[in-house]
Amino acid sequence: MSNTYTVVNPATEQPVVDVDMADIAATDAAIERAVEAFPSWRDLAPGERARLLRRFAALVDEHVEELAELEVRNSGHTWGNATWEAANVRDVLNYYSAAPERLIGHQIPVPGGIDVTFHEPLGVVGIIVPWNFPMPIAGWGFAPALAAGNTVVLKPAELTPLTAIRLGELGREAGLAEGVFSVIPGRGSIVGERFVTHPAVRKVCFTGSTEVGKRIMAGCADRVKRVTLELGGKSANIIFADADIAKAAASAPYAVFDNAGQDCCARSRILVQRSVYDEFISLLRPAVEGVKVLDPSDRSSEMGPLISAGQRSTVQGFLDEVEVAFSGHKPDGPGFWVAPAVVLAESTQQRIWREEVFGPVVAVMPFDDEEEAIALANDSDFGLSGSIFTRDVGRALRVSRGVEAGALSVNSHSSVRYWTPFGGFKQSGIGRELGPDAPHSFTDVKNVFISNE
Ligand code: NAD
Repeated sequence: MSNTYTVVNPATEQPVVDVDMADIAATDAAIERAVEAFPSWRDLAPGERARLLRRFAALVDEHVEELAELEVRNSGHTWGNATWEAANVRDVLNYYSAAPERLIGHQIPVPGGIDVTFHEPLGVVGIIVPWNFPMPIAGWGFAPALAAGNTVVLKPAELTPLTAIRLGELGREAGLAEGVFSVIPGRGSIVGERFVTHPAVRKVCFTGSTEVGKRIMAGCADRVKRVTLELGGKSANIIFADADIAKAAASAPYAVFDNAGQDCCARSRILVQRSVYDEFISLLRPAVEGVKVLDPSDRSSEMGPLISAGQRSTVQGFLDEVEVAFSGHKPDGPGFWVAPAVVLAESTQQRIWREEVFGPVVAVMPFDDEEEAIALANDSDFGLSGSIFTRDVGRALRVSRGVEAGALSVNSHSSVRYWTPFGGFKQSGIGRELGPDAPHSFTDVKNVFISNE
C-alpha cells in the first residue's frame, strides 16, 4: 500500500497535494514522544499552561483565513462554514485555556483528618477525527485534553488532513514542546487502530461512524482504556401547528443541508403536525430551491459538494430507492455534487427514515399529536440532536424532556456551542465533549486522605 495519500478538491476533482501517511513504526515513535513530553507538560505551572494555550489560540486567530482557505480546497466547505470552523478552534482553545487554573477538586468533610480530590491527567490521549468537520472536532478533543495536562496524538481522516497538519505546526510555533501535540496523518486501520492497542495511549476520543466506534469501544475494553465516542445521528426536527411555520420552513433546509448534509446533527427527519403539513411543504419547496449550491470558491455558496465520489454514490443509493418529491439545484461539470432533495416518507421502516444518509436528503412525515411526535422521534437507534418548533413553553419543555437525544434546540437549530455539553444518547455515542466539564473527561479523580495524627 502506498505511503502517500492524494488529497482531492471535491468541488473540482483536481488533486491538491500528496500527504505522507504514517506507518506503525512512525505512529509508535510519535506516541513515544508524547509519553516523554507528558511529565513536563503535566508539571508545568497551571498559569504557564494557560498562557501557552492562549498563545496557540492567538496564532490560530492570525491564521483563520489561511486555515479556512485550506478547508475550502480540501473539504469543499463553504467560506462561511470554513471561517466559522477555524474561528471555533480559536474560541475553544481560549475557552479551555482558563481550565488549567480552575481544575478544582473537592475538600470533603471526614473524621480524623482532611480529604481532598485531584483531577489527574491521564497521560497520552489519542484523538481520531472524521472528515466532515476536520477542524472543530479536532479542537473539541485536543483543547480540553491539553488543558487538563495530557499530551495528545491526533489522527485526521485520510480525506481531510490539511488543516489538522497546519494546526499541529501552529501549536509548535506557539511554544508547545515536541510531543505535547502531534498530528499523525494515516489510515484508520493503521494509526487509528494503534491508538486503541498501544498501552501508553490512555484514552481514545473518537468521532466517526457508529460501526467503527463500536469496534474501538470493544478494543479499548481490553485495557479498560477510557473512551469517548461521538457517532452517527438521525435527528428529528419536530414542527407543531402552533409554531411560526414560515420560520420553521425557511430554516429547515439549512438544518439538514448545511455541509451538504454531512453533519452528524443534521435534522434529516422532519416531523410536521398534520394540520399544518400542506402549508409547511408548500413553504419548504421554495426554501429548498433557494439554497445556493455552488463551488465553495464562490463566497456566496451556501452548500458545496460531497466529500468524495464514494460518498456521492452512497447518497445516490438512498435516492434510488425512493421518490424525490422536489429538489434544489446543483452545478454541472466536475465535483461530487448532489442536489438537496426532499422525500415524503411513506413508512418508518424505509431506509431513508431509519439510516443516516450523510448527504443532502431529508425525509418528511406528518404526526397527529405530541405523544406521537415523541414516539416517532424516539423510534431510532440514534439520539444525537433535534429541534422543536412550538410557541407553547410547556410543550417545548415536555417534548424536550421526552425526546431521547443529547443536544436539543427549541425554535432554532443550534447543536454545538462550545460553552455547552455535546454528545449522544443511545447509539449516537458515549461521553460528552465541550461545555465546562470537558477537561474532567480527560482526567481521573484521585482521592487523598491526610490524617491529623
Ligand atoms: P469513519 O468511522 O469511517 O472514520 C472516522 C475516523 O476513524 C477516520 O479518521 C478514520 O480514519 C478512522 N478509522 C477508520 N477505521 C478505523 C479503525 N478500525 N480504528 C481506528 N480508527 C479508524 O467515519 P467517517 O466516514 O470519517 O465520518 C462520518 C461519520 O462520522 C458519520 O457516521 C457521522 O455521523 C459521524 N460523525 C459524528 C459526529 C458526532 O459528534 N457525533 C461528528 C461528526 C461525524
